[in-house]
Amino acid sequence: MPSIAPSDSRLELTPSGFAALMGAAADAIVIIDEHGRILNFNGAAERLFGYSSEQVLGENVAILMPSKHGLQHDTYLRNYLDTRIPRIIGIGRKVEAKRQDATVFPAELSVGEYSDGNSVFFVGIIRDLTERERQDNALRQSESRLREREQELNVTLDNAPIGILSIALDGRIIGANQAACRLMGYSEQELTGKVYFDLLLPQDVAATEMHRQSLTEGSAETFVLNNRYLHRDGSVVHVVLHCGVVFDVHGEAERFVAQLVDRTSQVRAEQEASEFRERLAHVDRISTMGEMASGIAHEINQPLAAISSYVQACRRRIERNPPDIPRSLELLARADEQSLRAGKIVERVRALIRSQDRLRERTRLNEILSDAVQLARVDTNTRGIQINENVVDASPEVIVDSIQIQQVVLNLIRNAIDATEGVEPRPPAIELGCQVGPEEDMARVWVRDFGGGVPQEMVEQLFEPFVTSKSLGTGMGLSISRTIVKAHGGQLWYENAEDGACFVFTLPLAVTGEQGD
Ligand code: ADP
Repeated sequence: MPSIAPSDSRLELTPSGFAALMGAAADAIVIIDEHGRILNFNGAAERLFGYSSEQVLGENVAILMPSKHGLQHDTYLRNYLDTRIPRIIGIGRKVEAKRQDATVFPAELSVGEYSDGNSVFFVGIIRDLTERERQDNALRQSESRLREREQELNVTLDNAPIGILSIALDGRIIGANQAACRLMGYSEQELTGKVYFDLLLPQDVAATEMHRQSLTEGSAETFVLNNRYLHRDGSVVHVVLHCGVVFDVHGEAERFVAQLVDRTSQVRAEQEASEFRERLAHVDRISTMGEMASGIAHEINQPLAAISSYVQACRRRIERNPPDIPRSLELLARADEQSLRAGKIVERVRALIRSQDRLRERTRLNEILSDAVQLARVDTNTRGIQINENVVDASPEVIVDSIQIQQVVLNLIRNAIDATEGVEPRPPAIELGCQVGPEEDMARVWVRDFGGGVPQEMVEQLFEPFVTSKSLGTGMGLSISRTIVKAHGGQLWYENAEDGACFVFTLPLAVTGEQGD
């Protein structure tokens, strides 16, 4: 047994000390002579290679190597002994080793050399790398999976339809995906380093800052807010901002992640729609006024024509010889009556002009209906048509612009008169009704005539502007009426009734205590 001689002679190993050292070593230790024969094989080596010491002692160390290396080993050994150029001694290297069961495993081999004065011996320490390699492989695999995920995530983030910004706690942008760049008109490089608040419209800074604080103070984890940015081209970009905070491993706020959902086109569409609505309302007001003016001109024409004919008749009576004074006085009284009617109409024109700025007020629906009937009398009287108001059996209260609702009723009555006039045999009276319900919060008004009804082919377009069957009609009455009713929260529709037409509209009932504008 060779002895190892350390510099301190007190530590010189006895054979039993050497055996203890070999036995205690956690790594496999194999000692060979200069011919490669195994002289010592410790317990760890037995466990690692699966051979007992007796099986390998005296064998060539090549049995511990896969055959391709084993064959070359003797050559290596000889070369070293000839040249003394170390290729492994004192260097160590990773090698492949072979167990008794022929399985090959990776190992780290360190080799030391010593001499007893006559012969050279080599000590090989072999450490199994199987587990480490498995771990390295697993680590490499998980790293490569992580890289793949990272790439996937980057591609996903870049192609996401929503803008995503990573923002440092001081408000500086530290990352932006392509959607965020497109949204604001800057490249990622340009965005990086900019302060988020500098991109916002000044009006939106305060509210955003307040929410940001609630995130950093921990009173909220996310917030959602409408924000507006100034795009690089100067246009305003509307977004819904979803902002969350990212915490580090110690639970400290680290940065913000902002998701920006573009709502610019939605906001523009809403703006356009509201502008359009306003324009439409304006056109409506103008056409409502025009419609009413022409109606009133028509109304005024009636009494004026009557006055003119009464006055002519009166003149003829006075010119008679002898003049027919009693009859003339009677005719003058009629003319006077008509002039009063004309005066009332003018008064209503005044009321109409005043009503342009009228506010809605709490009114009894019956009063509006009676006023409308009163206005319509000019027409009904001259044409010998009756309006039956007796069916007005409820007196609901509504909050409306009463002049406008009066116009609706008047328009329906006029249409009913037009439909009734000239029909033979003379149809029953036009019916005007009003009730609460059937919906408990709505009042319902109807105007029903027996004039034959609306021709089937017209029913579909009845409420469209310029649809008329009258030579002097405008086709605007029903369309304007529907607009007015809708603006008051009600509906106007046509119902096919036996022998005639029935137009119905609803209005919301005034809630107790509600007074209007
Ligand atoms: P206008 O009276 O100026 O024609 P409206 O919008 O008031 O315009 O009515 C459109 C058309 O609907 C009328 O021309 C007529 O043909 C039809 N109509 C309206 N009311 C009645 C009714 N009570 N009976 C029959 N047809 C009607």
